[in-house]
Amino acid sequence: MIKYRLKCNSCFKSYDSWYSSSFEYEKLRKKEYLTCHFCNSKDIGKTIMAPNLLSLNFKDENDIKNNKKTKKKILEFQNFIKNNFENVGDDFAYKARESHYNSRKKTKGIFGNATKEQIANLNEEGIEAHSFPWIDDKNN
Ligand SMILES: [Zn+2]
Repeated sequence: MIKYRLKCNSCFKSYDSWYSSSFEYEKLRKKEYLTCHFCNSKDIGKTIMAPNLLSLNFKDENDIKNNKKTKKKILEFQNFIKNNFENVGDDFAYKARESHYNSRKKTKGIFGNATKEQIANLNEEGIEAHSFPWIDDKNN
C-alpha cells in the first residue's frame, strides 16, 4: 500500500488517498478516474507521499545499481525524499516509534538509517516502515 497526498488544481485543496501501488495510481490517473473529493475536478496532482517511509520492490540491490534506468528512478526518488522528508539519520527507529505512539504530534514523514532487524521490529509493532535501496550519488 502506498499513500499519496493529492492536490486539486481547481480548488487547491489536498487530501490523502491510498493505492495498492504507484502503478495503480498511475493507471487510475491516466483513465481519469481520479476526481477531487471536494469539487470533483479531474485536475489532480500528486504532492507528497505521506507514509514514514516508502516501499519499492526490487529483486536485489546489485540489480538496481547495474541498471541505469532503475538507478535514475531511484535517484529521482531519493531527491524527492530529501526534499519532502526529514532526515533523522540513525535515530530512525526511535523517531518512527515516537511519531507512531504520539499521534497527536504532527510530524513530517521521516527517513533515515535502520537495520533490517529494526524495520522488522517496527513492522511487528504495527509501525509502517520500509527499506529502500539508497544509492550514494556523491561521486556523480
Ligand atoms: Zn477540487
